[in-house]
Amino acid sequence: MIETIHHVERAPVRSVLFDFDGTLSLIREGWQEVMINFMTEILWQLDPSQPEPAVRQHVNEYVTRLTGKQTIYQMIQLAEEIVRRGGVPEDPLLYKRQYHDRLWERIRERVKGLECGKYQAEQWLVTGSLQALEDLKTRGLDLFLASGTDEVFVRREAELLGLTRFFEGRIYGALDQYRLFSKKMIIQRVLSEQNLQGSELVAFGDGYVEIENTKEVGGTAVGVATDERLRGGRIDQWKRERLIAAGADFIVPDFSDHEKLMGYLTEG
Ligand SMILES: [Mg+2]
Repeated sequence: MIETIHHVERAPVRSVLFDFDGTLSLIREGWQEVMINFMTEILWQLDPSQPEPAVRQHVNEYVTRLTGKQTIYQMIQLAEEIVRRGGVPEDPLLYKRQYHDRLWERIRERVKGLECGKYQAEQWLVTGSLQALEDLKTRGLDLFLASGTDEVFVRREAELLGLTRFFEGRIYGALDQYRLFSKKMIIQRVLSEQNLQGSELVAFGDGYVEIENTKEVGGTAVGVATDERLRGGRIDQWKRERLIAAGADFIVPDFSDHEKLMGYLTEG
């Protein structure tokens, strides 16, 4: 179940970074479709001269490229696309709110279901997440979580999924003052605060950004290419290809083989 892309030097791992949406949490499963529909509608209405599928393809490309960064960057790109088509864009923050309202329609039932006990946390987690986090904690590693979703939502959803206790407050997400947050900044902060070498860091993620940022500092990157509709067990080939292109050292479909992977990474 573990695909090795690069043979990495085994270094003692001390710190582990997790992305949130699509890596651990499936509460926001389907967000890409919601965002791509939202942007395609706006751009195509503005300039119908290009066929709708071509607009959609273009939107898909930049949304994917910016996945893992804060949502606002995707909305800033939308505003630029509007200008390019001769339109006058709104504040990107307004687009972000509109998109979030649409996404909320899709995920409201999931959040409410978790709140009232209709759903168990496992139903909205990638397979093996809780066991993997427990195992890493037992090994004495420091865990931290960084997400491009707004921090208030990440903290709330992590709580609903029973993940808060693993991270001891080190849960970071997007802020309205978006220049004060990036995954790169969080990684730098953790490395310096804990006096770590980049090689002592392992990251798990399903987006470009966390994989690239981790490789830049010399860490090990595990691409979590889960088929989100199944929660695990099968690789999403589209995600896999993009994670490999971003520099992932390993690809996994979920966390069910976490003992083998962490054994290899921490003990060799
Ligand atoms: Mg993600």
